[in-house]
Amino acid sequence: MLDVKKIRLILELRESGISDSKILSAIEKIPRERFIPENFRNQAYDNLALPIGDNQTISQPFVVAKMTQLLEVEASHKVLEIGTGSGYQSAVLSKLVRRVYTIERIKNLLVKAENIFQELNISNIVLKYADGNFGWKEQIPFDRIIITAATSSISKEVASQIHEGGIIVSPMVQENKQIIVRYTKINNVLKSEVFDDVLFVPNLSGTQ
Ligand code: SAH
Repeated sequence: MLDVKKIRLILELRESGISDSKILSAIEKIPRERFIPENFRNQAYDNLALPIGDNQTISQPFVVAKMTQLLEVEASHKVLEIGTGSGYQSAVLSKLVRRVYTIERIKNLLVKAENIFQELNISNIVLKYADGNFGWKEQIPFDRIIITAATSSISKEVASQIHEGGIIVSPMVQENKQIIVRYTKINNVLKSEVFDDVLFVPNLSGTQ
């Protein structure tokens, strides 16, 4: 049953403009149901954000696919994610790049995600419990950075941890809505392009 729904979801993503077959295949490989609490598992392949506890959500598959496509990742890349949440976005990226570094500010979610990566034998994701807005300076520079919580401005630390030509994709709060923005670092300045409207939980400071 989940398999039929998964195929339907992949077709839906393709029709919505996700044309990169490597991304569709990564989504096909990662069992989204494993990142979702048991009582919502029958909806794992619906194109919906779902609750994961601690007042947080696993992102909608379309948004995961779209942000991944905007990141333009390559197999050799080192990617930083801010906002591990369920771990699903990291797991999708782990099939596409060399290594994923992911930061989460809620300890409970970080521990759950780490266990799922182990159960799925995913070994190229490194996790850190911290406020992600300070980035991960021991691992700089990153080829790509993805922020998966609604952010009002990219911190100077995060902006400095991406190398020249690198890309940051983030949901940005603008007036009373959120939009996906892609920043490309050109001559040390972030040039921005705006994409879809989205709805993410907020980027908060500190840890809990
Ligand atoms: N990428 C996630 C989406 C998670 S929702 C997934 O695939 O499931 C956003 C997550 O960002 C939440 O777990 C929230 O706790 C975390 N978050 C919010 N602000 C943060 C910050 N400053 N540093 C690290 N994590 C943050």
